[in-house]
Amino acid sequence: MTRYCPAGDGAFEDWVERCPECGLAVIDRAPEDAVAAPAPTGDDPIIYLATVPNEPLARMWADVLADAGIRTLVKAVGPGFGAWGSVATFEHELYVLRSRLAEAKAIVRELEGDGPSEDIAPGQ
Ligand SMILES: [Zn+2]
Repeated sequence: MTRYCPAGDGAFEDWVERCPECGLAVIDRAPEDAVAAPAPTGDDPIIYLATVPNEPLARMWADVLADAGIRTLVKAVGPGFGAWGSVATFEHELYVLRSRLAEAKAIVRELEGDGPSEDIAPGQ
């Protein structure tokens, strides 16, 4: 049976009790999180990138960033207490890993500068 480092350092034979890389006790299952998500380590934290006015635009920007190989975290900011509206009309914040921040900012600057914002405004 194979055992795995919970921090994603790899797989080991079943007699291994602790990961030789990080010292954590190994587990019986592969750590899905370590594979699926970019591990925000201490020296590459997730950093605020930009705020966009609605969800479709946030998704579009995230797509463009993904095309450039930059993983983006999209977080709904919400309208605040007493406000109305669907989640699609909330402001959304984009976050990226700090190591990609400069690259992501350059892309956002292009999106803000060249984007025909009138054409992508949601039709009400
Ligand atoms: Zn490990």
